[in-house]
Amino acid sequence: MLTIIGHLDTLLNFDFPEIYDFERDNENFHVDLIKMKKAGVKIAVFAVFVEPEYKPNNALERTIQLIDRFHNILEKYKELELIEGWYDIERVMGTEKIGVILAIEGAEAVFDDSALRVFYRLGVRMISLTWNQRNHLADGIGEYEANGGITIAGKSLVREMERLKIIIDVSHISPAGFWDIVSNTGSPFVASHSNAYGICKHRRNLDDDQIRIIGERKGVIGINFAPEFINTKKAEISDLIKHIDYIRDIAGLNTVVLGTDYDGIKNTPPCLEDISKIKNLAEELYIKNYSKKDVEKIFYENWLAFFKSIWA
Ligand SMILES: [Zn+2]
Repeated sequence: MLTIIGHLDTLLNFDFPEIYDFERDNENFHVDLIKMKKAGVKIAVFAVFVEPEYKPNNALERTIQLIDRFHNILEKYKELELIEGWYDIERVMGTEKIGVILAIEGAEAVFDDSALRVFYRLGVRMISLTWNQRNHLADGIGEYEANGGITIAGKSLVREMERLKIIIDVSHISPAGFWDIVSNTGSPFVASHSNAYGICKHRRNLDDDQIRIIGERKGVIGINFAPEFINTKKAEISDLIKHIDYIRDIAGLNTVVLGTDYDGIKNTPPCLEDISKIKNLAEELYIKNYSKKDVEKIFYENWLAFFKSIWA
């Protein structure tokens, strides 16, 4: 079965060339070419995640390094194809290639709208304004107590993102920032790697109102495989499916997609140890009475419908 994954931190693996080789089946990493092929990955979002130690002064430098890395990878591995719009998706769907979308996670480097347009020209098609920290655009979820919304620069940026059809990602933003994005945009938007607070009370998860509005806006929510976002105790695949059930019941099945957060999380539930194991989730969904059609929606059709709604 085809699979579309909404959030991977795999670009950071290339910091460790002595132990990571994208062409090999690597033991201590979640994603490489072999595992992606095994999983039937058709499209994956590669995030430029700027680690906290680079912020704020070296965020731009690090973002550019990682975007350069992304393009070097594209050049080297002909199995990959850059996705910049619906036309590219249609093209890869009929081939053996894996489409890759470039995202920025935490937009410290996007210092104004002109920087946004330059990043757009470099292929960036999805951005979350913040990671966990506060920046010039908004408060991240780490500022939960201050809970600041988006700034004037943040408002301007999301409007320009809408115009350029860069997907707005609300994973990691503060609740006030989330609702500011809702009131300052009209487009569908995504939470690329977040689960349901109603099932697991972690600040990174979405509350019911957030889940509802994402569904109403025809956006999508990418299920995150980090155990701490799944269950406060032991996290099994069956616990992960509780989040899928819950989001489906509030926002509809069309809202549920896969985010995973592979290579950005330390641990995973058993049987989902890396991306090649993702079929175990499909198997468990069948056991839990999800139909073949339902599982196809979760695994790729909902992401495709979303991309089409933004870009076609
Ligand atoms: Zn993240």
